[in-house]
Amino acid sequence: MADAVMSATPNSPRLQQQIAALAAISEAPAPVVTRVLFSEADLRGRAFVKKLCREAGLTLREDAVGNLFARWEGKNPRLPAVATGSHIDAIPNAGAYDGVVGVLGGLEAIRSLKEAGIEPERSIELIVFTAEEPTRFGIGCLGSRLLSGTLSEDRVAALRDRDGHPLDYWRGRAGFAGSLSGVALARDGYSAFVELHIEQGPCLEQENLAIGIVEKIAAPATLTLELTGVGGHAGAVLMPGRQDALLAGAEIALSVEQSALNSGSPDTVGTTGVFRIEPGAVNSIPCRARLEIDLRDTQIDTRDATLSRIEAAIKSICERRKIEFKLERLNVDAPAICDSGIVEMISHACAELGLKHRKMISRAYHDSLFMAQVCPTSMIFIPCRGGVSHRPDEYSSPEQIRDGVEVLTRTLAQLAGRA
Ligand SMILES: [Zn+2]
Repeated sequence: MADAVMSATPNSPRLQQQIAALAAISEAPAPVVTRVLFSEADLRGRAFVKKLCREAGLTLREDAVGNLFARWEGKNPRLPAVATGSHIDAIPNAGAYDGVVGVLGGLEAIRSLKEAGIEPERSIELIVFTAEEPTRFGIGCLGSRLLSGTLSEDRVAALRDRDGHPLDYWRGRAGFAGSLSGVALARDGYSAFVELHIEQGPCLEQENLAIGIVEKIAAPATLTLELTGVGGHAGAVLMPGRQDALLAGAEIALSVEQSALNSGSPDTVGTTGVFRIEPGAVNSIPCRARLEIDLRDTQIDTRDATLSRIEAAIKSICERRKIEFKLERLNVDAPAICDSGIVEMISHACAELGLKHRKMISRAYHDSLFMAQVCPTSMIFIPCRGGVSHRPDEYSSPEQIRDGVEVLTRTLAQLAGRA
């Protein structure tokens, strides 16, 4: 089998032509790519990918939220399959590569293994996840969250777009029906998941590396905080006994910084990105403040301990300053540690191909974050020019993409071959 895998080389011109064809399916004129969940362009993009999958001889299945599974049956179809994939939805004014490289590159990897005459022991599936981008409903990774079973039915039922339409309205229009409770995957449904993706950061390009191997995926916790104090005239109310909402917020923002610095993990980052006060007049004591806090880490225990410390600080600062507070955890997603066996396998494939690589942390959200809760997972990053993404000038060269697909091809072959 090893020799056959060596001969499984991606057809780069074919892949480039398909990436260009998918980029042309957009709600906006080229070079802008916009494909918002269940828009007409998103549906045409899905149809295009399904056509390619059928032409490659894969068997298609879609679940109730529109996640697409394209399967190449292995010699032993009862074994849990190996999966790869990503997303094709794109935020407004985006580019041609985010997500798409993992979908069409994943398909190219499967096709090149088929064309090399390989018969994998395990089945290999391409997954196209619904709505990795949060554009329509304000929540990212909708499809993979549902697959991982981490999104409650209440939360899904409460989702609304800008016009007040629920998810059921949109998935009905797109032709997806049935209960969402059946979307969650069984814990042994897949033996492994590997996602190919552009880095969306500048490190690989700056370090002149071909491949980044993701060993940890950071995840954020987001807090919103409303502080209510007592306003008054800046001249008439003397200092003792003031209940200034801004000063409480300022102390809280500093405690977010201190908590992140002292977490014990170098990957903890805490940011108070929103701080608005009312009434916002120079001669008036701030009576209200709204803060939004983003806390990230690659380890769930240090992240959650830091989160608790910040919440305790908010309570004690507000008590001392006699400020009322309303604190809400907007989302608390678990970070993921990637599977060390898959990380080593990818690293081995890079070495075989003579590609310069290093291990790295993904600090952005990906469907892999949620797949990691279902099965052993890792990601393959390729460089993108200037680290730019979510813009029309997003770019990875055909050679960079081919390198990534070749590493993916070998990794999938190895994962599927070990019966
Ligand atoms: Zn993406």
